[in-house]
Amino acid sequence: MTKIPKILLIYTGGTIGMVKDFNTGALKTFNFDKLLTHIPEINLLHCNIESVSFEEPIDSSNMNISNWVILAEIIEENYYNFDGFVILHGSDTMSYTASAISFMFENLSKPIIFTGSQLPIGDLRTDAKENLITAIQIASSQEQELPVISEVCLYFEYKLYRANRTTKVNAEHFQAFYSPNFPPLGESGVYLKFSKELLFKSNVDDKPLKVRKNLDNNIAILKIFPGITEVVIHAILSIENLKGVIIETYGSGNAPTQSWFINLLKKAISKGIYIVNVTQCISGSVILGHYETSEHLKNIGIINGKDITTESALAKLMYLLGENLPKNEFKAVFEKSLRGEMREDL
Ligand code: ASP
Repeated sequence: MTKIPKILLIYTGGTIGMVKDFNTGALKTFNFDKLLTHIPEINLLHCNIESVSFEEPIDSSNMNISNWVILAEIIEENYYNFDGFVILHGSDTMSYTASAISFMFENLSKPIIFTGSQLPIGDLRTDAKENLITAIQIASSQEQELPVISEVCLYFEYKLYRANRTTKVNAEHFQAFYSPNFPPLGESGVYLKFSKELLFKSNVDDKPLKVRKNLDNNIAILKIFPGITEVVIHAILSIENLKGVIIETYGSGNAPTQSWFINLLKKAISKGIYIVNVTQCISGSVILGHYETSEHLKNIGIINGKDITTESALAKLMYLLGENLPKNEFKAVFEKSLRGEMREDL
């Protein structure tokens, strides 16, 4: 007889488990136990579900690296007792957390599926039920007693994505997420279909799981805009203890060519600050040296973020800074795909 998969449902907070405060009209988190009473359908799924909640569920705007470590530890402590994990998380920062978890778990061989909703579970028109039920089905999908998914994914509104490829693109549509540079890994319609050829076979050699919890958030994101001043760039690059900056450039990685701009970046790099170039465009890639306006960035040793999302670049930077890599290796390691988060051949 085939084994019934065991799934751990972890509630971190977010709209999915919120109720309306009728005095103020604002949404606030509520007791997780009540979440399950709203969806008795869950009992019909072919899996055994246990659940655990953050002690104090949070709106995902309050997520930080300590919460990522708490979440990682819940998964780590339960890793060998469960076949899959479903994380309920607010949609606002879900792509950040899910990207971070993807880097924190090395040699993953079980599914970690993030989901949430745009409307609270108690709302008549809620999208929460479909998202939650299908996310659990995905996490419990097995073939020959092995999980179909062995990576960190995000499921929302009928689409399964590689988590570290996603970004939140809509504050009100049910279709809130998009994976601009990588196709969905699966789709749910009448049938649940996976694009098997795209799935990341992250632990083919059966290496032991490693959980990296030493994240370093001494970083900043700097979005370039026409008219940006020297004072602004100087102020950001002079932040005490700053170790890394994600610079959001134009198009295929282009930025001003004025000497004050290049010199400030050059000086920061020579002080040991890592600067990663990602594009402000919703899709496409940085191609350093494609235009003259990115040639100088290439020459000063900026890290090529290729087609990575800002969310994933941030998580990767925090993770790699925490690994204390030798200075001369950092750039090469960052430019490699570690969890399927970027194309390597760019
Ligand atoms: N503000 C909420 C959160 O991110 C929105 C949501 O859950 O979708 O926690």
